[in-house]
Amino acid sequence: MSEFDAIFVGAGHNSLACAAHLALKGWNTGIFERSKTIGGAVQSREFTLPGFRHDFGAMNLSLFAGSAFHKKYANELKSHGLEFAPVANCFASAFPDGRWF
Ligand SMILES: Cc1cc2nc3c(=O)[nH]c(=O)nc-3n(C[C@H](O)[C@H](O)[C@H](O)COP(=O)(O)OP(=O)(O)OC[C@H]3O[C@@H](n4cnc5c(N)ncnc54)[C@H](O)[C@@H]3O)c2cc1C
Repeated sequence: MSEFDAIFVGAGHNSLACAAHLALKGWNTGIFERSKTIGGAVQSREFTLPGFRHDFGAMNLSLFAGSAFHKKYANELKSHGLEFAPVANCFASAFPDGRWF
């Protein structure tokens, strides 16, 4: 542990944002994640069928998109693949009897 200036337990986007911010200020940061993938509740993967990518948890990222962090690091994030997908009518609940709302 002495090799790090700061450590983060869990690689959700809050840890990732803090660690990136500190690293760019010269801090030696370590992130320890128990899962095979990073991102915590904010990640898109093929959770149901091959070829269909879904958001695991968070899907409305307007607060992040409008955050000071995104404003500061937008270009770096974009160069690493960050994209927002604006959609309309994206919220729905499906019920077992086939009805939906
Ligand atoms: C179903 C769902 C829908 C949501 N929808 C939205 C939305 O639309 N818009 C929005 O803004 N927010 C939404 N949220 C909330 C948002 O996802 C969370 O506020 C956000 O993910 C919190 O980020 P975080 O980095 O603090 O933690 P998390 O994303 O929870 O990440 C925590 C990480 O820590 C790891 N971890 C935990 N304990 C340990 C340990 N002991 N050792 C190592 N690793 C550990 C976990 O595996 C995980 O990767 C939603 C959440 C859920 C669950």
